[in-house]
Amino acid sequence: MSDTPLADRIKQQIAINGPMPVADYMSLCLLDPKHGYYTQAEPFGTNGDFITAPEISQLFGEIVGAWLINAWRALGKPNPFVLAEAGPGRGTLMRDVLRTARIDAEFVDAATVYLIEASPKLREVQRETLIQSGQELTWATTISDLPSLPQLLVSNEFFDALPARQFIKVGDDWLERCIGVNNNGDLHWTTGATRLAKGDIPKVANNAETGSLLEISPAREAIASEMAAHIQAHGGVVLHFDYSHTRSGFGDTFQAVKAHQFVDPLQNPGTADLTSHVDFEAIGQAAQASGATVFPPMTQAEFLLNCGLLERAGQLGTDKSSDVQNQIRADVQRLAGDGPNDMGELFKVLCFAQPDCPPLLPFAGN
Ligand code: SAH
Repeated sequence: MSDTPLADRIKQQIAINGPMPVADYMSLCLLDPKHGYYTQAEPFGTNGDFITAPEISQLFGEIVGAWLINAWRALGKPNPFVLAEAGPGRGTLMRDVLRTARIDAEFVDAATVYLIEASPKLREVQRETLIQSGQELTWATTISDLPSLPQLLVSNEFFDALPARQFIKVGDDWLERCIGVNNNGDLHWTTGATRLAKGDIPKVANNAETGSLLEISPAREAIASEMAAHIQAHGGVVLHFDYSHTRSGFGDTFQAVKAHQFVDPLQNPGTADLTSHVDFEAIGQAAQASGATVFPPMTQAEFLLNCGLLERAGQLGTDKSSDVQNQIRADVQRLAGDGPNDMGELFKVLCFAQPDCPPLLPFAGN
């Protein structure tokens, strides 16, 4: 079997340091400066490896843009404020948000746009996509690079690309799931020596059976805390869309996707997208602990339909050919439907906001 250059380096590291935790493997495969997936490839779209909501239809970014304008008004029109996106991919969502925002010149004038992106290659793609907007753009590497201003931040499929750790219940312990090298010289699954500290074991894992698999992501929770601490101190709101569950649980959700197919995550590292489901319950708890108001998560279908997806789709289809109208119908189905290939139920939306935030419809109570 021919290996990728990254596979050779990973095997060398395992030879020196011992089995590699899943989180470290994920970080290297996605963001290694020389051979990482996001640093080398442009993976999105119908011709790429996977398709995301903003790449399916402009409707997604338009609905999000209208929601952001309403949230900004509900917060008392802070001026100046930061309009930020974390993990913007090709920049399509921000492009559609900025186009929609033209309906409110005050909003556009008050906004300073920040893009939080780790991949230099994708930063270039984003610059190309967004140049038309005429808006000044600034790139940041982490949340802490953002100025001390009120912030409206959005992300789509950002958290699922951040590294997660896996642990397996063995006797009374939770041992870290790792990647080692077998006798044939291939990468394989194994467990390492690290045990999950008693204080870090989530409540849901009490009384789990031997062999149970637990995923946790300190990296995701740390970023959610940083976002929450920022809006607690300076005001604002964040809106996240992700492939997620709303309650913590068990099971292996680590997966690799290439050319719209699931592939073995240990084969050809650096050439496929690696993700795991996001635990919005854990992320919400981290945000709340850092002082944000956390609204109960809802499905992407609930969010989009409550924000007028069907009405907007109707407008977009008016006076168009039947081919275009059929395409719009198919896009609406993909974004908000409940079939196995649709995103409506699989994707969830998490919103958290500054303390004493008014209800930001469709997020009602908290
Ligand atoms: N939001 C886009 C792309 C999602 S893919 C869309 O919906 O189409 C994940 C994005 O997050 C990519 O742009 C990737 O380069 C970026 N990313 C992954 N890890 C990151 C990190 N640690 N910091 C900043 N950006 C990151």
